[in-house]
Amino acid sequence: MNSPRRKPSYGASRRSVLKKSFTQEQVNFTVPISTDPVVGIIGGGMSGVLCALYLQKRGIKSTVFDTGIHGLGGRMGTRIVGPEALTFDHAAQFFTVSDPNFAEMVDLWSKNGLVRQWDGAIGELQSGGNFNPLPPSPPRYIGVNGMRPLAESIISETSMMNVVRPCWVSKMEPYNGKWYLSENGKPCGHFDVIVIAHNGKCANRLLASSGLPLIARQMKRLDLSSIWALLAAFEDPLPVPSTASGIPLEGAFVEGIDSLSWMANNTTKLFGSQTSRPHCWTFFSTAAFGKQNKVPQESIPSSTAEKVKKAMLEGVQLALGLPENSLKSPFYSRLQLWGAALPTNSPGIPCIFDPRGRAGICGDWLLGSSLEAAALSGMALANHAITVLMQIADYCQSGGTSPDEFALGLHDEFQPLKGHDIGQFPGLSSEKQINKANELQLTT
Ligand SMILES: Cc1cc2nc3c(=O)[nH]c(=O)nc-3n(C[C@H](O)[C@H](O)[C@H](O)COP(=O)(O)OP(=O)(O)OC[C@H]3O[C@@H](n4cnc5c(N)ncnc54)[C@H](O)[C@@H]3O)c2cc1C
Repeated sequence: MNSPRRKPSYGASRRSVLKKSFTQEQVNFTVPISTDPVVGIIGGGMSGVLCALYLQKRGIKSTVFDTGIHGLGGRMGTRIVGPEALTFDHAAQFFTVSDPNFAEMVDLWSKNGLVRQWDGAIGELQSGGNFNPLPPSPPRYIGVNGMRPLAESIISETSMMNVVRPCWVSKMEPYNGKWYLSENGKPCGHFDVIVIAHNGKCANRLLASSGLPLIARQMKRLDLSSIWALLAAFEDPLPVPSTASGIPLEGAFVEGIDSLSWMANNTTKLFGSQTSRPHCWTFFSTAAFGKQNKVPQESIPSSTAEKVKKAMLEGVQLALGLPENSLKSPFYSRLQLWGAALPTNSPGIPCIFDPRGRAGICGDWLLGSSLEAAALSGMALANHAITVLMQIADYCQSGGTSPDEFALGLHDEFQPLKGHDIGQFPGLSSEKQINKANELQLTT
């Protein structure tokens, strides 16, 4: 028996040919691409904005859609609270650079005053207050005014680039060689190529009936950790350990405490040690603690919130080696669950592209779990899309039938990812790790 065909709102009669594959039908665009193509990018995190920037560099127009109410950036989040402008980076804290293309980009941001090096004392903190600072190299970079302002400044709206937010793209439908996007029934425009620059549950939902089964399958293979973030402001400095030369800790990967994997003082990081502003700390849990205490991130039960906050503040006390109940209560605090925090596996390819459906994916998880990985993925997808846009046009004109040579990453296997609970920092290792590696080299 023939099952009734899914009727897209843009009409099925002139719809592109669909080929059944896996559980949904594969879109197969055959109409020529417009001579002035526009790319729709769903997601305005680091990968999405760099994809847009690199498309613009080559003269291709794009529109970036992002859910952000306060701004673009995704997991480059900065929260500024109240009349005192308490400032917290509440996801990405800092980044390192290992790739020459990313280094070139970061140099430019540095020249333009968007990023600078974080020279404060960063290291590993063991339960009890034992602080082991990391060497100053490789340099650690931060957004000058926080991570979100960096994301916002990377792209400026021009005739080549358009930003639409807050906008939650809830549907993508293929029709007559274009992708039609909509937000809860409200049309958001149509595009020659579509880029999915986000991941997790939201992307799985969007892709479930999109006509891109190979892309949907790859996305479904991704596993993500959960991390609790506690933002806490204190009137006075916390009693933190210092380096041998007396510089107080500003950021630390915490070891041996279940409820804490990272702590950083945003105030000294962003405004220097001489500032009279309150001390705004970001504390992150471990991924194991996030998993144990996972709840829906949109509706955290108050009992869970209380339990988690208490455990995290106790973790801070333990990490700093303070006596029980001696940590002063913060005068402001906010708890947040990053339910889809960081990828724990990856196909290890820069991007994914389905040439039949003229759709691609970029994001940190394709290469790792860092801002650098996200940036490289966005750049790679832009470059690939440009090649495809130029060459698929030739294919269509010459009556070519198989664009499959432009397929990328549709079948690659995933491998587990290593790194800190809050991601990877290429090149960053402690003296302890460097010595261990040297010893190993000497004995082999
Ligand atoms: C707690 C935490 C700490 C971290 N610390 C560091 C760190 O110190 N250093 C580091 O290098 N990395 C760190 N990371 C990782 C880093 O933040 C990410 O690797 C990077 O920001 C990912 O960028 P992205 O573009 O791939 O995705 P995202 O930043 O997640 O961007 C995706 C965007 O798409 C939007 N979106 C989703 N669905 C839709 C839709 N349907 N319509 C429109 N928009 C949509 C989202 O709202 C989001 O803005 C951390 C991550 C977390 C969670």
